[in-house]
Amino acid sequence: MQALTAEMDDATLRSWLREEDPARVARLFATADAVRAAAVGDAVHLRGLIELSNACVRACAYCGLSVHHRDLPRYRMTAEEVLDCARRAAALGYGTVVLQAGEDPALSGPLIADLIRAIKRETGLAITLSLGERSPADWRLWREAGADRYLLRFETSNPRLYARIHPPARHDRPWDGQGEVPRVRMLRELQDLGYEAGTGIMVGIPGQTWDDLISDLRTFQRLDIEMIGVGPYIPHPETPLAHDFDGAAEHGQQVPNDLPTTLKVVALSRLLVPDANIPATTAVATLDKAQGREDALRAGANVVMPNLTPPQYRVLYEIYPEKACIHETAEQCHACLTARIHSIGRRVGTGPGSAPKRRRHLLQESA
Ligand code: SAM
Repeated sequence: MQALTAEMDDATLRSWLREEDPARVARLFATADAVRAAAVGDAVHLRGLIELSNACVRACAYCGLSVHHRDLPRYRMTAEEVLDCARRAAALGYGTVVLQAGEDPALSGPLIADLIRAIKRETGLAITLSLGERSPADWRLWREAGADRYLLRFETSNPRLYARIHPPARHDRPWDGQGEVPRVRMLRELQDLGYEAGTGIMVGIPGQTWDDLISDLRTFQRLDIEMIGVGPYIPHPETPLAHDFDGAAEHGQQVPNDLPTTLKVVALSRLLVPDANIPATTAVATLDKAQGREDALRAGANVVMPNLTPPQYRVLYEIYPEKACIHETAEQCHACLTARIHSIGRRVGTGPGSAPKRRRHLLQESA
């Protein structure tokens, strides 16, 4: 039986990723759960998700918000609508709101900075931004306005696969397609600006191999990242990747985009970066609407993201089909998620729920 520690070597990681014996997989999840309890405790933090715009200028080959999806009606919430959602988050007792959108240039630097200041003034909530690849000037402006965290998944650390699924936009800085993928560099920039930085990957991207997953896990560890979001890749029929495969499957190396593999990546992420915040993602819940979130919470996750987006917009934030919770109101989502948390003997967290390493930084700054 291979050791399950943060010092695992690549061969051990590989064998756990490919493990199929139910008793051993149960042991992996139980160990990750114990490490989660020791490192970040039993509280499950709620981050209220506000999907403020589904407009996007990018041509990501996997994403239903991308320019490939021509028939998708686009929306952009007003500042007042976003503020209303933030007020609701505060009323429901959440410590954090997450402002997420496609890469939408109409969400200008100053407009988002004003929104951050208004949310802080009215609610005092921690603010996570997930607005895609923006200029360092915007990131600095938003940090100075009071944003606390930034979420930017690098999706895959394999440069060849990254280049294929994430073609550059006109405004991107040049990249030679070798070495570290650009979003990993951007995550360091975000950390340098003082953001608590979150990243993540999709599991089972066509062409993704077991070696790629090992490299992804090592990248989380190298960045000593504060948040790790892991979800299965779910094909969207209006995107090129849903119809496009390369040779990984033929060589028996294709990673499946299924729940067991995703949960193993969640568990190994917890073991390699014990004090990260790790959400039970909506994509996991989409694969198994009955138990997916609970399974992730028992395999190392400690965060869930109830959706606060008004229902008329929520149905249009179609990153993949059949997304979980798409027809619920904020109150229904809240009641459902808190019941799920209690059903597995955990409790709902209070306060901003920062990663312990971030709290350490803050203490050092104020000393
Ligand atoms: N535009 C921002 C960005 O790119 O970071 C935030 C919004 S983007 C829709 C949020 C995340 O959705 C992506 O990081 C990606 O991992 C996930 N996503 C997009 N398409 C997906 C798909 N087909 N299956 C699973 N996850 C997907």
